Amino acid sequence: MRLDGAIGRVRLVGAGPGAADLLTVRAVRAIEGAQALLYDALIADEVLALAPVACLKVQTGKRAGQASMAQSTINRLMLRLARRGLDVVRLKGGDPSIFGRVGEEREFLRANGVEVEVVPGVTAACAAAAQFGFPLTHRGEARRVLISTATLAGGTLADAGWAGAADPQTTLALYMGRDQVRGIADQLIRHGRPAATPAVAVENAGRPDAHGIASTLGELATALDAARPTGPVVLLIGDVAARADIAAVADAVVPCRRAQA
Ligand code: SAH
Repeated sequence: MRLDGAIGRVRLVGAGPGAADLLTVRAVRAIEGAQALLYDALIADEVLALAPVACLKVQTGKRAGQASMAQSTINRLMLRLARRGLDVVRLKGGDPSIFGRVGEEREFLRANGVEVEVVPGVTAACAAAAQFGFPLTHRGEARRVLISTATLAGGTLADAGWAGAADPQTTLALYMGRDQVRGIADQLIRHGRPAATPAVAVENAGRPDAHGIASTLGELATALDAARPTGPVVLLIGDVAARADIAAVADAVVPCRRAQA
């Protein structure tokens, strides 16, 4: 709280994929110093536990398909708390600049005279690649990573950049794509990506309960139907996915399953 009556500030903080030890030191400091914490549904309890007991905590988001707090309500709430002089932390899963609405929130707050700082975080695709032992780029194999979503607000399939994703040297990292996998695979194959292109779906990337499903573009939808993941899933499609070491992760730390082809 600012005793001089000055307006507080808002930090838009990336919480990474879930495990507290994948937070940046800067994110940990922000959470530990927060007076008000607004957090998304995907934020793990062990991350929330870093906030002071006296910190006001508000959950703003629900999982896909359920009602979340409207963006305008979140914006107004952040503004009201900052105007009370509080140090506000808006905690988002992964990196705030990747499907995190950081642009809208930053612009709204700055237009209302509030100081804003963005703290980056580990995004789901990077956490998945690290955990399952494959790179997102690889010399001679993948020179480009396309981070995209194919899902619009209404749940319909949108162009995820199919033309760019047809390049065999593109690794496609698809967020919020689980319910559209079949349509996504059809589109990619139609745009020239071979059905045999390796693909990995990672549920709960970066967390101890991560699951990796190794498949191919053509088989991915069926593999996901069989696996029925309930946690967040990131899809990684491209030759680099063949390097994923699903079994090694299963042996080492987490339960994993490999889809039947
Ligand atoms: N800002 C986040 C993405 C938010 S959009 C980030 O940088 O990771 C929400 C989507 O992200 C989910 O539908 C899922 O596709 C993906 N996602 C987020 N956390 C994930 C995790 N731990 N494991 C797998 N996918 C995840």
